[in-house]
Order: sequence, then C-alpha cells, then structure tokens
Amino acid sequence: MRPEILFPYYTSLTGLKGVGPKIAPHLIRHVGPYVRDLLFTLPSQLIFRPVSRIAEARVGQVQTLCVTIGSYQKSGGKGPQRITVFDDSGQMQLTYFHPIRGFEQQHPVGEARWISGKVESFGSSLQMNHPDYLVPLDKQDTIPLFETVYPATAAVSPRLMRRFVEAALHRVPDLPEWLDTDTLGRLKLSGFSDALRAAHAPVSEADLLPEAPARKRLAYDEALAHQLAMKARKQHRQATPALIIDRHLWADKALSALPFALTGAQTRALNDIRGDLRSGERMNRLIQGDVGSGKTLVALMAMIDVAEAGHQSVMMAPTEILARQHYEKSLPIVSDMGISAVLMTGRDKGKEREAKRAAVASGDTTLIFGTHAVFQEGVDFKSLQFCVIDEQHRFGVGQRQRLFLKGDSVHYLSMSATPIPRTLALTQYGESDLSVLDEKPAGRQPIHTAVIPRARLSEVFDRLKSAIAAGSQAYWICPLVEESADSDLIAVEARHESLQDALGREVGLVHGRMPSAEKEDVVARFAAGQLPLLCATTVVEVGIDVPNASIIIIEQAERFGLAQLHQLRGRVGRGSAKSACILLYDMPLGQAAKARLELLRTTEDGFEIAEMDWKLRGEGDLLGARQSGFPAYRFVDPVAHADLIATASREAQYILLNEAQFPPPRQQALEVLRHLFDWRPDAADKVD
Ligand code: ADP
Ligand code: MG
Repeated sequence: MRPEILFPYYTSLTGLKGVGPKIAPHLIRHVGPYVRDLLFTLPSQLIFRPVSRIAEARVGQVQTLCVTIGSYQKSGGKGPQRITVFDDSGQMQLTYFHPIRGFEQQHPVGEARWISGKVESFGSSLQMNHPDYLVPLDKQDTIPLFETVYPATAAVSPRLMRRFVEAALHRVPDLPEWLDTDTLGRLKLSGFSDALRAAHAPVSEADLLPEAPARKRLAYDEALAHQLAMKARKQHRQATPALIIDRHLWADKALSALPFALTGAQTRALNDIRGDLRSGERMNRLIQGDVGSGKTLVALMAMIDVAEAGHQSVMMAPTEILARQHYEKSLPIVSDMGISAVLMTGRDKGKEREAKRAAVASGDTTLIFGTHAVFQEGVDFKSLQFCVIDEQHRFGVGQRQRLFLKGDSVHYLSMSATPIPRTLALTQYGESDLSVLDEKPAGRQPIHTAVIPRARLSEVFDRLKSAIAAGSQAYWICPLVEESADSDLIAVEARHESLQDALGREVGLVHGRMPSAEKEDVVARFAAGQLPLLCATTVVEVGIDVPNASIIIIEQAERFGLAQLHQLRGRVGRGSAKSACILLYDMPLGQAAKARLELLRTTEDGFEIAEMDWKLRGEGDLLGARQSGFPAYRFVDPVAHADLIATASREAQYILLNEAQFPPPRQQALEVLRHLFDWRPDAADKVD
C-alpha cells in the first residue's frame, strides 16, 4: 500500500494548475503521468541573461537589452516581420517569422521595451529572432537573470515546464528522512526534499553535473530504492526452491571431444552456472561477453548437464538466423552423445510442427532451440528446467514470462553481447549473478581497423576484389537506420548491384524487409562458402558466426552507434585468418563522429568502447541502456555515480538484514522511499 504522504506525488498531472486538456497529453507523454514524474524530470541546461547594450552585445549569446522601438518594416502580409530597435549605442533588428496580430499597437514606435533572447548577426548588423521576452519597462523583473531549461518537446516549452514544476513543488509535502545520519554525514547529503528543490533551482553550470550535491542525493535515493527492490526480489527467488541439477559427465565428455579448450573465462562461467544449478535456488544469471567470446558454448554445456539429469532446456534467440545457428552449431556436439535436439521457429508448419511439438511434449527431445515459437500456446514440455535467452532485451518481460511458465521454477540464464559498463551491469545483477567472459578464445588475431573516406571507394573495391580472389569472404554493411526508410533500402540494393558488377560474381543480399526464409537461405549459402560476399544491413549485427569471413566493410559508419559498430566488427576475427574492418565515412565528418570512429580504430575492447560511448553520448542519454534492458534511471548516471551505486548496494543489503530492528519512523520512511521510486518488474526488466 502506498503511504498517504505520497498521494500528492502520485496525483495525475492533469490536476496541476495550468495543465489544461490540450497540453496534458503532451506533458504526460513527455515526462509520465504523475506529479512525481514531472518533479523527477530535472533541468538540462541553464541560460544566463546578462544585461547588455547593443554595441556590446555578444553574437551567439542570450542577452537582455533595453531598447526603443524604431520602425516596423512592412513585409506585405506574409513573410517575416522585422522591427528595428535601438539604444544609445546602436541599433538592431527583431525578427518574427510569423507576424503577430496587433503587435504594432502593443509595441508602438517610440516606446521602450526590455527584450531578451539570443543575439545573432545578420549581415553587418545584429538581430534577435523571436525574443524570449519583450516586456514594458516596469516588467523588467519578469526577465530572470538566469533560467533553468528542461528537456523540452515542441508542445511543452521550457517556460511552461518551469511553471508546471513550480506548481508541482508547491503541491508536494516534504518527506521523512529514510537515510541514517551516518550515511548522510559520510556522503555529505542533504535531505531529499531540499535536494529536489535545489535540483530544480540550479544557479551555476556546476549544479547541473551529476556530482552536484542535490543531484547526488537524488541519485543515491534512486540507486538505493533500486537496490532494495532488486535484492528483495532476489530474496524472494531464493525462497522458491528449484530442482538441484548436478551432473557433468556428458558435458565434460563433449568438451574433451572439442578441437579446442575452453578459455579460463568460459570455465569460470560454466562453474558459476553449475554452482547455481546445484544450489537448490533458482538461477538468474547473466553471461556477458564480448562478441565472439564463446557464450553459446558455455550455455550449451549447461544444457547438456540438464539433459543428463533427464530434463529439458530451451535456448531462445530473437531471430530465426540466430536460432538456426545455435541449433546447427550445437547439433554435431550433442547428436554424437545421443541427445535429441530440435529447432522450433515460426516457419514450422502443419505435420512437421506437430511432430516437433509432440517430441517436446513427450520428453523425447531434451534440447530445444528456437525463436518466439518456443513459448507459443500449444508448445508443452515434459519437464522444462532451464531457459537460456540470447540477447534477452529483444524479448519483452511478458514473453520471457510465458516461456518460464512452461516449466516449474525454471533456472534462467541470459546471454548478452551488449557491452554495458560493468558498473551498470552490477546494478542489475549482483556480483554473484554476473559472469563476464573477458577473454577471447586463443588464436584469435587482432582485427585491423581502418577509417577511410568514401571518396576512396574504388580503392576499397580493388582490395576487396583481390582478397576475394584469394579465397576470403567479406561482409559489406549498409546503414538501414529505419526499416521503413526507402532511401536506405534503395541504397542497399544499389550497392549490391555495384558490388556484383565490380566483382563479376554473385553477391548475397540480406535486409530486414526480405522474407525470413529468403534471408536465411542467403546467410546459409554465405556460411557454407558459396557466396564470397554478403551485402547486408544491420540484420547481421547480432551473433552471426561465419569464421571464414575475415573482412567487413561498413558504409556510412558515422551513422551507426559505437556499440553497434563494435558488434558488426565482431562478425570478423572469428577464425585464425587476419581480419580487417573498414569504416567508410561520408564527408564532412564532425568532431564527435571522428572521435568515435577513431576510438574504434584504436581499441577492440568492447567494455572500453561501452564506457567511452557513455561518455561521448553525454550524461543523461540512457537510450543505449534502455535498449539493452537495463534500468531506465532518472537521476543515476551509471558512470559518474558508479561509487554511489556500490555504496547503495551495500546499504540496501544492510537495510534488508536489519530493517526489522529499525525504529518505526525509519521503517515507515523506507517504505516511502520504496514507493516513491516504484521499480516495477518491467521497469527493472528482470524477472524473478
Ligand atoms: P558469442 O556468442 O559469445 O559471440 P560464440 O558462442 O558464437 O560467441 O562463439 C564464437 C565462435 O568461437 C564459435 O564458432 C565457437 O564455436 C568458437 N569458440 C567458442 N569457444 C571457443 C574456444 N574456447 N576456443 C576456440 N573457439 C571457441
Ligand atoms: Mg552469440
């Protein structure tokens, strides 16, 4: 039950003064439904409005000036309206692109006004487009010296946001202290309500930084609430017994038959998983490993352990190509041992599908590989005990839940190649539930990465041609940022044509809008070495494993995210041949884009790239994390607040152990904290 003191925080934004029926939907879409959500949206910028004179005005900066209306230039109905204004130091123009009716009557020639806005140059003179303020002399005090700016949408201007936030701050009561005095002193934190008000009233740029005291307090509260929720869920999970599985004979035999040995990291991860399987508690583990680090093999060994114990396992992947690959790579290993495996995808139809389902229902088949098809209605298991989900963030919580419900207290392993900073991964999975594959299999050659302007395309064609003549296989990646962008699609198809012409050979083509059967056939032919070159969009980004491919060329590399480029590059360097990655860019290339490509050129370490990506994208951009299924923090910056998160994690542990002995007011305050940041399962994206 939500504590009463929080009711005003959970009032709908529509109840706030000034939030009418027209603006409400926009505001709600922008920040969320409640007063709390508005208050949890912090300013992103601070604008100073120093007072200046026209002659001293600085171009490109926001300034406040006292001017006299000089003359109106009539533009004849449509077109911009220009107004000449002056002070005793010079003159400038105000420009309104859409003339405002009655403007001239309101601001007659000869009258003085305070104006404030960004001063720009216009030919040899100065101008201000759409001043933020234009007020009579006695209203100067309505123009603030500095102003907080909220992340705005077109529909909700920063000024409205400020007004709403102010109204919201008035509506909510101060909250009791949930932190103990010791923590407050050690971390030098103020109270929550003071911090919330201060965070909305920055007076310097420093107040906007994650280290600013107000923001630090809010971030700590958020991290603590999140950790409390995570750990409570874990306790709950641990209280639900799961089957003890402790067999290794088959898997160890399979391992010894492989032509290579597991890396140290793989062995550690497998031991972690085996520890979970025999613990009697339900596993919820993440294997995080850079592309090519060998996650699938580790998971397969655990599946074999489960099969030896007489139970079923599923390995589910987000695409048919990936699921098929998992299946085909695993089949030779398991069929030798007499373990029956099956691939289930949306392509199965009629009798074939019924036969597969029957084999799964009877328990004849113990290893199930597949896509979304595996959790559909009509798929029943004899004894599902273990689920492995590749790239889990591609599935919704509900979808994963449907799979888990096909078994009883199933063990759950997720695999991710998304290089999320370790600090962030740890916020979601405790130290003990995270296995990191930080070692590449032996014999892998470093990938040589070059950054080249597209102007040198013909040179690239020539080199590609001779490499292919010498037996290499290559990927050619074109951006298709949106599946619906026709121009991108045309570009891929055109590139495919030109590559065929240049090579004089058939080149494979895959993109997201092809039927999946067709896509798969092309990938299969490429994997079998029948096609020397695969021209593709990012559909090959995740997981495709063709060890003979040693060259990847990425066109318009500047349009991709860093992590995505790293993923793409991971398609090569999987065999023993020397590999190359060529990042082609279009001119002109901005500073930031250059820095990103340069980073890729100099490092192959996915985690380093992830950390840098976070920094380069700037604080507050949590998109990458959200896409990877990590928590959508409002205040926490996982990089800047790494230490804070670690402290919050320890404190959460302590609280959960000792809470029952806390004085009642503190217990109640902690209840307030928990409800203030309600980490719902889908927000936290972890199913326990
Ligand atoms: P990931 O899923 O982590 O990107 P994969 O599981 O696809 O990586 O493994 C990449 C390739 O490396 C596969 O062909 C796999 O068989 C091979 N591989 C896995 N472990 C090892 C190892 N220890 N030594 C050599 N090759 C390995
Ligand atoms: Mg993989």
